[in-house]
Amino acid sequence: MLNGHCECGRISFVIDGEINQLSHCHCSQCRRLHGAAYGTFARVTKKQFQYLSGTNDIKEYASSSDLKRFFCSNCGSNIMVTVNDEPEQLYLAMGIIDGDPITPEPFHIFVSSKAPWHSINDNAAQFDEFAPE
Ligand SMILES: [Zn+2]
Ligand SMILES: [Zn+2]
Repeated sequence: MLNGHCECGRISFVIDGEINQLSHCHCSQCRRLHGAAYGTFARVTKKQFQYLSGTNDIKEYASSSDLKRFFCSNCGSNIMVTVNDEPEQLYLAMGIIDGDPITPEPFHIFVSSKAPWHSINDNAAQFDEFAPE
């Protein structure tokens, strides 16, 4: 079991099982919304995920017609992204998951729109847009 919570602690959740994909997204939306060089996402299936508290504190923002982003209305922590075409998967903000979970090899996506002031200095695979499935 993996646990996680937002910065203020109102929203908490548990994940039953392992993260099935780990990606670093360099698109401009993730950079702005995470206030960082990129957003890191842990993909889990909807069935693995359960909120423990704070569902009334969650706000939703549609950053495009097929993406919804969920965040804490009290502290602003990013919680997850959902993709309309992938209803069974959740893309959790990796930074809100506790501890040192086992993860698949990470990769970089939307490298074509990465911040000009940031250099990728690892050997993980890079894709200009989405990774091929
Ligand atoms: Zn919060
Ligand atoms: Zn992104």
